[in-house]
Amino acid sequence: MILAHKIEMRPAQAQETYFRKACGTARFAYNWGLARWSELYAAGEKVDHYRLKAELNRIKREQFPWMYEVTKCAPEAALADLGTAWANYFRDLKRKGTRRAMRPKFKRKGRCRDKFYVFNDQFVIDGKRIRLPHVGWVRLTEELRFQGKILGATVSREADRWFVAVQVEVAEAPVRRESQAPVGIDLGLRAAAVLSTGKTYAPPKALAKNLKKLRRLSRQLSRKKKGGSNREKAKLRLARLHRRIANLRRDWTHKLTTGITCKYGLIAVEDLGVMSLMQNHSLARAIADVGWGEIRRQLEYKAARMGGRVIAVDRFFPSSRECRKCGAKHETLTLADRVFVCPACNHPEDRDLHASRKVLREGLRMAKTTVGPTESDACGQRASTGRKRFASRLEEAGRQEAAANDGQVKHREKVAACDEYVCTRFR
Ligand SMILES: [Zn+2]
Repeated sequence: MILAHKIEMRPAQAQETYFRKACGTARFAYNWGLARWSELYAAGEKVDHYRLKAELNRIKREQFPWMYEVTKCAPEAALADLGTAWANYFRDLKRKGTRRAMRPKFKRKGRCRDKFYVFNDQFVIDGKRIRLPHVGWVRLTEELRFQGKILGATVSREADRWFVAVQVEVAEAPVRRESQAPVGIDLGLRAAAVLSTGKTYAPPKALAKNLKKLRRLSRQLSRKKKGGSNREKAKLRLARLHRRIANLRRDWTHKLTTGITCKYGLIAVEDLGVMSLMQNHSLARAIADVGWGEIRRQLEYKAARMGGRVIAVDRFFPSSRECRKCGAKHETLTLADRVFVCPACNHPEDRDLHASRKVLREGLRMAKTTVGPTESDACGQRASTGRKRFASRLEEAGRQEAAANDGQVKHREKVAACDEYVCTRFR
């Protein structure tokens, strides 16, 4: 399993200048590659990033001699990124059609995230410092958390701070969860998440709380004269607020997903069409503030790490409208109704709780009939017996309550809070 630990750096001024230059070089190489790729592609030729890399190396000395001022990893990795972007585009084109597939775009200075990549043979980490090409040792604010084979590092900037995310391949250690119990989750807006056990999580409201301030700062920025130093200052203030909002959101999401994956063996979530819901302008900001897509991504990789499983319940499965006791349809239920009262059997229940319990039931049903990717890979030919065993184990677990030792959970959540890992796939 590949994990990345993102550590803040404390570069000296000259080192920071170098970082900015390397980020600029990476961006330039990406844009050059994109223009060249489109040109060749339009001419009907087959392109890949190896071909572009060879071409860039041929012309670099004559046309872009300044590229030699920074590590050769920066342009090379940028071209590899471009290759991934095209691969994703063609994959989506096949799967979703021209309307939904996103063609790689040019990166504009100040509009994209400043970053560059360093290959693993080009840097050394020693305690609270890292040696990067050209700039020597740079101070780190903490030591690398993971042990294993180091694969590479991404240097990036957030407002006025610099970070290095070190990718490490770690051995998979079996982690014991508190129980094997299954759980259903209903993601909503008023309560960001409601579990089938009745636990609710309030939304972070990170953006909503800071929105007024955000508007004020954006207005201040737009009034400053272009090219002036006051404009730069206002820009930094705005970038810092954006960073703060992002941090609040990230913290909340990590705590939520770690809490759930530590506790449950099977997690059923609704496969919400996040993108199509985002088209609804009145919901878009609230959804982005909660970060549904990110919650789902984190649940999946953390569950895999803990040996658990996430099951996505079909988007058109009527979780909120059908009574879970008698199956009658509640046609007139609207978003404003907070309590579900069945028209046929009069069964009353909190709307979100009702939905999460139905998601759980549907998830359990699906778990019996399908084999998850981790299961089938692990069991190979024994998939069918493995499936049976898994299903019976689930049924048994379903009967038990989530035997949660609260003190232990709280402790784990606290540990998880400082554990800001990001799972990334190596290029
Ligand atoms: Zn009913």
